[in-house]
Amino acid sequence: MTHRDILNQIRLAFPQPVSDTIHDSYFVHSIMRALDQVDALKTHLPFLGSIIHGDFEAAKLTQLPDTMSSVETVTKELVGYLEGMTIFGHPRTQQNVVAPTTIPSLIGVLLASLHNPNLAWDEFSRLVALAEVEVTAMTSQLIGYDPQKSSGVFTFGGTGTTLYGVKIGLEKACPDTITDGTPENALVFVSDTGHYCAANITGWLGIGTKNLITIPSITENEIDLEVLETELRKALTDGKKIACIITTLGTTDAFGLDNLLKITAMRNSLVEEYQLDYHPHIHADAVIGWAWSVFNDYDFEKNPLEFRPRTVRALAGACRRIQHLHLADSVGIDFHKTGFAPYISSIVLVRDKADLDLLKRSPEQMPYLYHFGQYRPGMYTLETSRAGTGPLAALANLRLFGVEGLRAILGHIVEMTQLLREHLDGREGTTVLNRGNFGTVTLFRVYPVGVDTFEIQQQEFEDVTYKDSLIANNAYNQDIFQYVNSEAMEGRGVFISTTDCYRHTSYGEPIVALKSYILSPFVDEEDVKTVVEKVLEAREAIGESAAN
Ligand SMILES: *Cc1c(COP(=O)(O)O)cnc(C)c1O
Repeated sequence: MTHRDILNQIRLAFPQPVSDTIHDSYFVHSIMRALDQVDALKTHLPFLGSIIHGDFEAAKLTQLPDTMSSVETVTKELVGYLEGMTIFGHPRTQQNVVAPTTIPSLIGVLLASLHNPNLAWDEFSRLVALAEVEVTAMTSQLIGYDPQKSSGVFTFGGTGTTLYGVKIGLEKACPDTITDGTPENALVFVSDTGHYCAANITGWLGIGTKNLITIPSITENEIDLEVLETELRKALTDGKKIACIITTLGTTDAFGLDNLLKITAMRNSLVEEYQLDYHPHIHADAVIGWAWSVFNDYDFEKNPLEFRPRTVRALAGACRRIQHLHLADSVGIDFHKTGFAPYISSIVLVRDKADLDLLKRSPEQMPYLYHFGQYRPGMYTLETSRAGTGPLAALANLRLFGVEGLRAILGHIVEMTQLLREHLDGREGTTVLNRGNFGTVTLFRVYPVGVDTFEIQQQEFEDVTYKDSLIANNAYNQDIFQYVNSEAMEGRGVFISTTDCYRHTSYGEPIVALKSYILSPFVDEEDVKTVVEKVLEAREAIGESAAN
């Protein structure tokens, strides 16, 4: 074959640049065939096809093929890579904070990939850039920022949103780090239930993980305000700079919510007292919790959506803290978590758009870009190319759901979570650990038959003489987890997960917990009942041996 023959084949593998109805339908049909093949992998089980463990050694030997393939062959091969994937929307999947994705958000990703807008500059993204601004406006308003003053950019995940917060804060506390480098006296604060990305960020920014001060949390999994204040004072007395206080609104494992109202007040009074020439930046890592903002102005008394009383209480309990999000200087939001969009769809909002100017490069550093146009986020974003997929997926879901839809879907999964807790509380062998947290994640622990669950929890958590019991029951809960998930694998029951360290005991041992994370709108009461039944069945099946 000459290169011309091959080129003809190649051209068929691209959407046609000029309308060609026959080829256009071939394109649509190719996508449909791919989706059909994926659907054919669905069974009653909560994963696609069967779970095959990948041969990573063999994968290292993969070679680039010598010759061309076809759209059909490659499609079939690609579909094969989905074999064994968890169906996150399945009612029997309650594993982690991974969202099932809506059809409009998938179409958003497809469209943004199809014509490949680059959000660095509106010259390269036209109206897709507008989607970013619209999402910024909608979410600003939702959390209580003034959309005229705020700004926002999509970035590479929740980690990226916190990175922006810390970098802006660093620049406020220690001006010109972008040119001069990071000084050694900059500190960042986060609670011990905050996300580990804080360690990545301080490491990668050159602040150093040793300058990340981890503040303990109280039993509600929120930052201990007294210790925070002591540590902030100590830092200021020692002549250190506070680059950022990372607050977490919705911790990953337990949905703990830091008290932004008190933390911002604390910051403000320290600024006065120590006569600081900067305001220590407060970032809210609300990548999970942001969505609860839709309930800020819900009429909990009238309860027009008719949630159960326990649900109303849980929603109101979350809003007590979420309603203060607007007090933070920057906020991270993941649409790929509680916004039901595909990865990656994360936005960082800043209350004051001038904050983003702190990150700006000078035009001389980018001579070939940004000469004209109205929208040039590429002048301050960390990324150069930025995909349109995140903004279009987020916009799709915000438009699809509206306030009403978000309330209904969140309310439902909170309702299912509350039902699960009710069922767990109703049994003597199980105990809910994060009772004071109102999200859709439930941490619970199971105890062997014959153990007094009313006392054991407190004893194990606070009394070092119960250390052996704690360790034995940690292992016991891991066994329960194995049992429940191997049953789920066979189509009997629900996939749940565990955490190796829900918290530490007062004497420093990690506490293992079972975890149910409900994010699927398809979960119903029978699915949460099944979780409890399976856990109790596991307790019967393995209780005796592990207890001793
Ligand atoms: C998931 C998570 C992150 C990290 O977000 P990615 O989108 O995975 O980068 C940060 N903080 C919290 C609280 C999270 O739950």
